Amino acid sequence: MTPRGWAVLTLGGLVLALLVASIVLVPWSRPPAPRADQVAALGELPVDQVAHAREFRSALRPGAYGALVFGLLVALLLGLTPLGARLVELAGRPFGGHWTARAVLGGLAVVLLADLLTLPFAAWRQSVLSRYGLSTHGWSGWAVDLLKSYAVSAVIGAIALLGFYTVTRLAPRWWWAFGAAGAAGLVVLLSFVLPVLVEPVFNRFTPMEQGPLRTELMAMAARDGVPVRDVLVADASRRTKAVNAYVSGLGPTRRVVVYDTLLREATPAEVTSVVAHELGHAKDRDVWTGTLTGALGAALAVVALYLLGTWGPLLRLAGVDSVAEPRAFPLLIALVTVAGLVAAPAQALVSRRVEARADAHALALTGDPATFEAMQRRLAGINLADPDPPRWEYLWSASHPSTVERMAAARAYAREAGR
Ligand SMILES: [Zn+2]
Repeated sequence: MTPRGWAVLTLGGLVLALLVASIVLVPWSRPPAPRADQVAALGELPVDQVAHAREFRSALRPGAYGALVFGLLVALLLGLTPLGARLVELAGRPFGGHWTARAVLGGLAVVLLADLLTLPFAAWRQSVLSRYGLSTHGWSGWAVDLLKSYAVSAVIGAIALLGFYTVTRLAPRWWWAFGAAGAAGLVVLLSFVLPVLVEPVFNRFTPMEQGPLRTELMAMAARDGVPVRDVLVADASRRTKAVNAYVSGLGPTRRVVVYDTLLREATPAEVTSVVAHELGHAKDRDVWTGTLTGALGAALAVVALYLLGTWGPLLRLAGVDSVAEPRAFPLLIALVTVAGLVAAPAQALVSRRVEARADAHALALTGDPATFEAMQRRLAGINLADPDPPRWEYLWSASHPSTVERMAAARAYAREAGR
């Protein structure tokens, strides 16, 4: 069989593996959140709070969708015309067009150009956040964060680009196999190291101070059978008023993180409710699930790009001879951008299901639906979330159930449990 034949076979295997993983690992049946309860919950929220949140979300929309459309156009323009290939050549020229210069500098130049062209949309978003009082760190803090994220992306990108184009040179017929394995490996590696190497670039993390709340949280984790070494507090207040908590990392790097804003704004019982949700993610191994499906998706993408790259008309559009050369990197970016847009609703759906399961875990662990609901109300109020967002936007991009869905789930649980 030819390498191409093997690639088709591998692609089929990866699609199957991804399907099986999502059938087995994603909690497709969600706990009940009756629409009647949602409508009742919405009716009980302060009218001006809902109106203010909706006004804020409308103000964000032009920038968000503008960035999406414009980003897509830039990616297509660079990838499906010879412009991108020329940019890669240009970046390698000071180094005599050496392939490493084209691979690393050319690749980074393409990404940086796309970022710079969509920068006005990011600035728009920041101006809206400031206007509505959610952002606290001003333009200089925003710019510093932006530069930090460019630097982090440049380091990770340079390693990935150098690794990828080394493999395409060493194994011109089989690079897709090594590339797929490498991409999957990189996803797993990043899951381990991001919390330790990257998150501290943006925030300072300190163990939650000793006291009744910490004792209660550690006791709850023990009761839940989830070993948690520490609950960390992130100094999120230096950039935002928003409240949040999350769990990240795998194995020895796993951590539950709460924003300092959450500790400031919410009652201890509400913080406990939030951490119970995070323990649900830990207990159900949601970070593992995300990492596994991410790794399979990355491997699948590499093999699919290889196969698409044997299609002559596409290569002619991009003005390249082979998809494996650095000059074809803009073409890869264009294809990945389109695939990302197509996959977004599916990813959002999976995320919402996983989040609903963590909510159910929090309700069962705390047995306190009233506090859970109060916390949802507070979260929506501080984060200016639309409690019941437009359906199309929800389906397209919502990573969590809506506020009214989460409140309705709490009410359904309360009825079920007789509380
Ligand atoms: Zn969650």
